[in-house]
Amino acid sequence: MSNKVRVRFAPSPTGPLHIGGIRTALYNYLFAKKNKGDFILRIEDTDQNRYVQGAEDYIINSLNWCGLYFDEGPGKESEHGPFRQSERKSLYKKYADLLISSGKAYYAFDSPESLNAHRKEHEKKGKTFIYNWHNRLKLDNSLSLSPEELQRRLDNKENFVVRFYSPQDEVLLITDIIRGDIQIDTNTLDDKVLFKSDGMPTYHLANIVDDHLMEISHVIRGEEWLPSLALHVLLYEAFGWQAPKFAHLPLIMKPEGKGKLSKRDGEKGGFPIFPLSWGESLGYKEAGYFPEAVVNFLALLGWNPGTEQEFFKLDELIENFDLKKVHKSGARFDPEKTKWYNHHYLQEQEDSILLHSFKDILFEKLSAEESFDHARTNDDEYIAKVISFIKERASFVHEFWELSHYFFQTPNSYNERAVKKQWKDSTPAILNKLIPLLEAVQDFSSPDVEEVVKNWIGKEGLSFGQVMAPLRLVMVGDLKGPHLFDIMAMIGQEESIKRIRLALNKL
Ligand code: GLU
Repeated sequence: MSNKVRVRFAPSPTGPLHIGGIRTALYNYLFAKKNKGDFILRIEDTDQNRYVQGAEDYIINSLNWCGLYFDEGPGKESEHGPFRQSERKSLYKKYADLLISSGKAYYAFDSPESLNAHRKEHEKKGKTFIYNWHNRLKLDNSLSLSPEELQRRLDNKENFVVRFYSPQDEVLLITDIIRGDIQIDTNTLDDKVLFKSDGMPTYHLANIVDDHLMEISHVIRGEEWLPSLALHVLLYEAFGWQAPKFAHLPLIMKPEGKGKLSKRDGEKGGFPIFPLSWGESLGYKEAGYFPEAVVNFLALLGWNPGTEQEFFKLDELIENFDLKKVHKSGARFDPEKTKWYNHHYLQEQEDSILLHSFKDILFEKLSAEESFDHARTNDDEYIAKVISFIKERASFVHEFWELSHYFFQTPNSYNERAVKKQWKDSTPAILNKLIPLLEAVQDFSSPDVEEVVKNWIGKEGLSFGQVMAPLRLVMVGDLKGPHLFDIMAMIGQEESIKRIRLALNKL
């Protein structure tokens, strides 16, 4: 085996990838790239009953959206392929046979009914039935059958499974990069099924054979596979192969902290759980997240750079990533934090990208409703300027419209509470006086309008609040928005005055 770092992400195409799966892929990718190694995608589709149409494409599209491009995998063949286990089917029997001939595995003929009966009988006595050293000689398998009887059954093509012969009375010492040293008493292990007479390997056999043949140096996967680790290490020993190094990642926990984050938590809390939409479930992409934000928050769910830094682009993650700094305990998922990251990456986004996305929304909104000036809704420079005024307040592009509609439309209603508070008896007279003043402004720029209005406020002996608040209400329909004179300069002299007149009529 070469010393090159080679890692794999090995999902089963049984449905969409949970973001926990994306995080596993991400950590594999970061570790590979940090160590100038290869990141491999292997599709573990040996269980045809759980195969879901479209899931493989979904997995690949999700990885690509996050920028986690694999070096080898389906569609990127190499001497280590093929990368779908269903296409490697012919390969596994040889390895099952190898283990049988060396006495590390055996044929078992126990029917599902008889195994069930054993289970029930044990339950009655308050025990659990485990198929292993303590009873395997009494069960229906090649350990208890005569060679002739075994041959007869095989010739008759009776259904069998191949079970691993777990060693008795041994203590296994295993090192996990994240969890440190682990001791396992082999007497607690069951003789897991490795292969079935339908010619299909189980996950355990296929996984080990493939990791070996694909020269995987490090297995980085979810904590849920920790209980299989002993068997996997024993399988490497049984084949006489050098085992890869292992790292089992902590779970991503519910926002409340207890239990594994599930699809239902997303539905309950109104946040995505999948990278891309799948059926009815909205994905991060479609919910308006930038892949940079998703990658960033996932990286920090379980890994800590050891510094205060919170924002990491993919290349910075590669530079800083260290498996040894991955936590042992579960990482609590915080939906608010994901928005915070998106807010950050929205501010960093190139104007042209934001412009492009916002124009789609504008087109939709303004094809249904009138704008005060059609030309502006097609003016890239104008729209880009609007974005620059409001993006600070947004975490998602889809919030832009709510924050900026008054740059495109004359307000047709006014926030009632604001009116009650700011529209005084004296207000109409004040605003009426302001109209000729605004009409006289030569260059209707933000600083010029500001100067004229503020000087006038001073001369009239008015307070700022008496003028600025109702004026904002008139322009925006509410008391929110960026600098008032920026808004007025943007919509222009004619529209600004029109809005004052309209409000004087309406309020
Ligand atoms: N196919 C397994 C899964 O779906 C892979 C586990 C592993 O990485 O060994 O998670």
